Parts: sequence; structure tokens; C-alpha cells
Amino acid sequence: MTPSTAHTPVRSCKACRKKLPKSKLQRWIISADQPKLDEKQNIAGRGTYLCSMDCYNSIKGHLTQLMQRRR
Ligand SMILES: [Zn+2]
Repeated sequence: MTPSTAHTPVRSCKACRKKLPKSKLQRWIISADQPKLDEKQNIAGRGTYLCSMDCYNSIKGHLTQLMQRRR
């Protein structure tokens, strides 16, 4: 028997596209035009998932743009 993992939501990192369970990713939102880490992953609005601060740093320059352009 395998442990039940069927309902683990998977998201891909916006920067490196690696797919990971949502719980292993950082959720970022745009708040007042600034990227903000959604630590509890419960802030309303569009989020972007990133796997690490390295990935955050690699796209933070255009994170706001990326998120606002997404429809
Ligand atoms: Zn990544």
C-alpha cells in the first residue's frame, strides 16, 4: 500500500518551473505594487509560487509585471 498523496496540490515554480507540492513552495502575492510573501498561503488574490529565495531573486525584478500581466 502507498500513502495517500493523491490530494496534494502541485504547483510549479514560476522561475525554474520545477513542480513541487504547494506546501514546499513559497506563495508570493502583489500587495501595494510590492511582492509580499504569503506565509500562510491564505491571502486573497493571485499568487505566484516560487521554490526558493534564489528563484525569487532571479525573477523579482519583473515579478510584479509578470503577475499583473497574467489574466
Ligand atoms: Zn524555482
